[in-house]
Amino acid sequence: MRFVLLGGGIASLTCAQKLKELRPGDEVVMVSGDKYPYSRMVLPNILKREIEFKNALLSVPKGVKFRGGEKVISIDFERKFVYTPNGKLRYDKLLIATGSEPNYPFEEKYNSVVTVRNIEDVRRIEESVQKGEDIIVFGGGFVSLEIVDALIKRGVNPEVIVSSDYPLSRMLDEESGDFLKNLLMERGIKFRFDREIKAVKAGFIFTDKGEKLPCKLLIAGKGVIPALQFVKRGEVLKINKFMETEFEDVYAAGDVVEVYDIVSGKYRSIPIWPVASLSGWYAALNMAGIKAPYTGFFPYNFLKTLDISIFVAGDMKSVPHDVLLWKKGESFAKAIIKNGVIKGIVAINVEVDIPEWLRIIREQVKVEWVTKSFPWIRVKGKI
Ligand SMILES: Cc1cc2nc3c(=O)[nH]c(=O)nc-3n(C[C@H](O)[C@H](O)[C@H](O)COP(=O)(O)OP(=O)(O)OC[C@H]3O[C@@H](n4cnc5c(N)ncnc54)[C@H](O)[C@@H]3O)c2cc1C
Repeated sequence: MRFVLLGGGIASLTCAQKLKELRPGDEVVMVSGDKYPYSRMVLPNILKREIEFKNALLSVPKGVKFRGGEKVISIDFERKFVYTPNGKLRYDKLLIATGSEPNYPFEEKYNSVVTVRNIEDVRRIEESVQKGEDIIVFGGGFVSLEIVDALIKRGVNPEVIVSSDYPLSRMLDEESGDFLKNLLMERGIKFRFDREIKAVKAGFIFTDKGEKLPCKLLIAGKGVIPALQFVKRGEVLKINKFMETEFEDVYAAGDVVEVYDIVSGKYRSIPIWPVASLSGWYAALNMAGIKAPYTGFFPYNFLKTLDISIFVAGDMKSVPHDVLLWKKGESFAKAIIKNGVIKGIVAINVEVDIPEWLRIIREQVKVEWVTKSFPWIRVKGKI
C-alpha cells in the first residue's frame, strides 16, 4: 500500500510518523513544496536572532520518503494520481496537508510587499532591516505582533496599520482588545487603527485616511487562506469526523481544512500548530484503517510580545450571558460564559495554568465548578 502525503508541514509529518508506526511495511511518501520541513512558528524568533534556521528544521520520520521542493499541480481523484512537474505518482490513500498561504491584501502584486510564511520571507525582512529601510507592518494579528516585537528587538520601530480598532481583533472582544492596545501603545508601538492601505507606490503607502507614509517594505499579515491551488484557489476542503474528504481514499488535515469547533459548534478554519498536529495524527489512524473519530478542536494561542504575555482560548466573541473579569494595573483576565459554560478566556499578564484552561474549554466545564476552583488563577500582584 502506498500512502502519499501532500505537504511537508507539521500535519503531514505527524501523519507520516504515526503511519510508519502503525503500518511499518507500507510505503509512505511525502511530497512537499518546501525543500525541507521546518517549524514556521519560530520564524519571528529567527528574525529576533534568538534561534538559527538550522535549529528550526524538523526531521523526517525514519523510513518515510521525502520529496522536497516538488509542488503538486493537480490530482486525478478518479485514477488516484497526483501530478507534479516531475511526473505523476500513484496513491492508494492520500493526505492533503498543504497548509495555508497568506491572504495577500492587494489586487496588484508589489515587490515592496512581503507576507510572512517562509524562511525566504524572513530573509527578505532581514535584508531590509540591514539596509535601514522604512518598514511598515499591515495587520494586528498574532504573527504581526510577533514581527513588530522582532523588529523592535532589531532596532526598528515600525508604524503598524490595523484595519480594526484594536489588535488581535479576530480573537479578542473589544474590552480585552482595548486593554491590550493601551499596554502596547504605552510601550511605544506606533499603531494607526481603523485604516486600510489603498496603494503602495514609489516608496510610499497611501491609506484611506489620506495619509502618505514612507515605506520601502510593507509586511502584510492579513490572515491566511487554504493552500489549495491544485484544486481551486480559495476553495475549502471539508472533512468528516474521520478526516475523510468527499473524494474516495482522500483525507485532509492541518491548516488546509475546516474542522469542527467544539466551542462555536461550527466548521471553521483553525490555523494553529496544535490543531494541525493533532488532525494529522487522527488522519493517520483513519488512513491505517483504525476508525478514530475526532471530537473537535478550538482556537487558542499564547504570545509574549514586548514583555506582555497574552493567552487566549475559545470564543471571546460569543454573545456573553455573563462574564468573569479581573483587572489590576497591567493585569487583565476575562472569561465569557454562555449557558453556564466558559466559552472563552483571555489572560493578559496573568499567570494561568494553560493546560488546565484548555481542558476547561475543551470539556465545556460548568462555570460553578470553575469558580469554586479559582486558586489556579494567580494574578500578578494583589487584586
Ligand atoms: C510566522 C508564523 C508564526 C506562527 N506562530 C504560531 C504560534 O505561535 N502558535 C500556533 O499554534 N501556530 C502558529 N503559526 C501557525 C502554524 O505554523 C500553522 O498552523 C502550522 O504550520 C500548520 O501546519 P500545516 O502542516 O497544516 O501547514 P504548513 O506548515 O503550512 O505546511 C504546509 C506544507 O505544504 C506544502 N505545500 C503547499 N502547497 C503545496 C503543493 N501544491 N504541493 C506540495 N506541497 C505543498 C508547503 O510547502 C508546506 O511544506 C504560525 C505561522 C506562521 C507563518
